[in-house]
Amino acid sequence: MVGLEGTAGVVHAESVVRVYGEGDTTVRALHGVDVRIEPGRLTAVMGPSGSGKSTLMHILAGLDRPTSGSVRIDGTEITTLGDDALTRLRRRHIGFIFQFFNLLPMLSARDNVLLPLTIAGEKPDPQFFAALIERIGLADRLHHRPAELSGGQQQRVAIARALVSRPTVVFADEPTGNLDSRTSAEILDLMRGSVEEYGQTTVMVTHDARAAAMADRVLYLADGKIVKETGPTSQHEILQLIDTLDVR
Ligand code: ADP
Ligand code: MG
Repeated sequence: MVGLEGTAGVVHAESVVRVYGEGDTTVRALHGVDVRIEPGRLTAVMGPSGSGKSTLMHILAGLDRPTSGSVRIDGTEITTLGDDALTRLRRRHIGFIFQFFNLLPMLSARDNVLLPLTIAGEKPDPQFFAALIERIGLADRLHHRPAELSGGQQQRVAIARALVSRPTVVFADEPTGNLDSRTSAEILDLMRGSVEEYGQTTVMVTHDARAAAMADRVLYLADGKIVKETGPTSQHEILQLIDTLDVR
């Protein structure tokens, strides 16, 4: 479409289809998703279990490939990149936060945070690293291993790991899904804070209307399609919407 090319979008997906399996066991997880993620914003993705949220996050982050369709990250089409080029692009542009933290058990919190840089053969900017650790609240836990940390602390490590390389975009797949409500609120504050303070472009899957209400934009997914999109929306309005859209 004329004019759209000029509109900034750090992640731009078009007609994304993902089919799992073959023959009788085929599952169409995504049915042609078009989405443009805008820089410097927090985008929330809501939808019922099985609606394709994780599949979409993995494909937008280059962790999985679509069956068909296009995904561009910072202008580069990633669906046709070779594995090595894709790995390099992910390293530079993508941070990912998982529901179950996915930390390496034998590494300290510090080494887990630094891992993306270590793998790339890089060192952190000492000032940024110190400020990040302070902001995330990990200063007195840096030498502990994941097993010695609470769930909330482990997720803080995972957030710092996602932010440390200052990626183009951070994806978070139900980052509070395994945490109690008080810890969830703290983690959400950190996610929102990284958007405010670092301008960190963030896409977050959540089941929690309170979390989605902190977003600049909410996408609603049902049966592998985006069925609705809203701007900043109150918790109450989001709850009403997911009832009327039947995407709970
Ligand atoms: P959500 O994150 O919204 O719960 P998912 O993206 O995990 O949804 O799953 C979407 C659909 O794809 C579901 O029907 C799920 O069972 C199916 N699915 C997800 N991963 C696989 C896989 N590796 N193999 C087969 N089916 C899968
Ligand atoms: Mg999921």
